[in-house]
Parts: sequence; C-alpha cells; structure tokens
Amino acid sequence: MRTPLVVGNWKMHGDLATARELAQSVRDGLKRPRGVEVVICPPFTALAAVAEVLACSAVSLGAQNCHWEEQGAFTGEISPVMLAELGCRLVLLGHSERRHIFRETDEEINKKVVAALRRGLQPLLCVGETAEERRQGLTFTVVEGQLRAGWAGLSPEEIGRCLLAYEPVWAIGTGVNATPTQAAEVHGYLRGLVSELGSKDLAPAIRILYGGSVKADNAAAVTQEPDIDGVLVGGASLQAPSFVAIAKKSAAKGGAPKE
Ligand code: PEP
Repeated sequence: MRTPLVVGNWKMHGDLATARELAQSVRDGLKRPRGVEVVICPPFTALAAVAEVLACSAVSLGAQNCHWEEQGAFTGEISPVMLAELGCRLVLLGHSERRHIFRETDEEINKKVVAALRRGLQPLLCVGETAEERRQGLTFTVVEGQLRAGWAGLSPEEIGRCLLAYEPVWAIGTGVNATPTQAAEVHGYLRGLVSELGSKDLAPAIRILYGGSVKADNAAAVTQEPDIDGVLVGGASLQAPSFVAIAKKSAAKGGAPKE
C-alpha cells in the first residue's frame, strides 16, 4: 500500500524571509491533507527556519543533499547527522544537477545513501536519462545502472526504507514533461528491478516518484498512473498555490493508498 508522496525541491532559491513565507503558505494550504504526504526541501540555510514553521504540521522537512561522512575535514559539506538534528525526514540524493553539474559519481551517491540510512533519513534516490541517451535507446540501461549502483550493498530491509524518483534529465526545468505513458513505462521497469534487488514483497511497497516539469495542470495525469506514487517538484514548488494544488491533485482518490 503506497500513499502518494509530493516533494518540493526549492534548489538554491530564496532568502530566509521568502522561505518562511513560502513554508507558511504551504503549511496553511495543506492543513489536513488526505491521501498524500508532503515534504519540502529548502536550501540548507533555511532548514532551521522552515523546521520551526512546519513544527506540528502535516508537512515534513527534507534536504537536497548530504555528505557521506558524519563529521570531519570536509569544508562546505553537510552531514546526515546535521540534517537529522534539524528534523529532516528525507534527503534527495543523485539529483541530476548533482550528477551533471557537480560530477557526483554513482559510487559517491551510494555512500551517501548508506550514510543517510544509518542516520534514519530516507534517501530519495533520483535516476534519469539525458535526451541523447533516450534518443539512443539507452533509457532503461541508464536508469538500471544508476539504481543498481545507488543501492549497491543494501539489504532488503534497507531498500525497504528507500524512496526512488524517475527524473528524465530532459524534463527537468525545461517545461517538457514526460508523458504519463513514457513515465509509467520506466516506473514499471524500476519496480521490476526493486523486486530483484530487494524482494518480491518490496516491489509493491516502494514509492517511485516522477519528476520533471510537473505543474498543477499535469500532476493529476501523471499520478493517476498505477506505478507513479507522487511527484518531485522543482520550479512549481516555489509558488505555494501551485505546489498546494499539485499535492491535492496527487492525493489518492478517496484518501486510500495505492495497492
Ligand atoms: C527537480 O528539480 O527535481 C525538478 C523536477 O525540477 P522541475 O520541476 O523544475 O522540472
């Protein structure tokens, strides 16, 4: 049984006042959400302020990245311990901007996944192909490689605590979203892999989100696909009305989770 999950990735946007205001509006717009869980991932500098705003609300806190070590001489990095202390529930890992702009490798992402799990954070592993890889017919090969590497060495119990997001790189921030059919095809493939990497029982339990130019007007079409368990939202999470609308449109019908 999978309750849809909607995650807002604010990326590197917003000063403290804007972050507080946006978090308040999301919180107030989603007082008693039925059939959907909601998480927002502000920049590191706003985590403490947003944690205060979200305290005792239905909206949870997440982070956009973390290092794999718990502490040490890693100038400029943030550890999973620090995120957990601030009340983060999940952490995005392997986002395409981390992979492509900052050249994060699968091996580093795997170490981060392991570290996040150790500290009780849910790692939301992002996988996705570039436009060129899709043109070459490599979509399944790429996402499979990223998933196998990102979850390398995890036990079925650990896999059971993970979240996945399919985010085609060509759809992120471009306004060109994957069609529900394109996304569903990859989600189905990933779910098959979860069965192999974890167990048959885990495949129907793991939540796999879609990300890439999700807006209020396309969220419902994407999330009604049986294998799509919510959305990871970048640009449209920076405006409370659109993010709240996406969350409401992603809610399971009648509040009942997907089977
Ligand atoms: C993202 O950053 O994960 C994302 C999906 O961005 P956007 O919604 O802007 O495409």
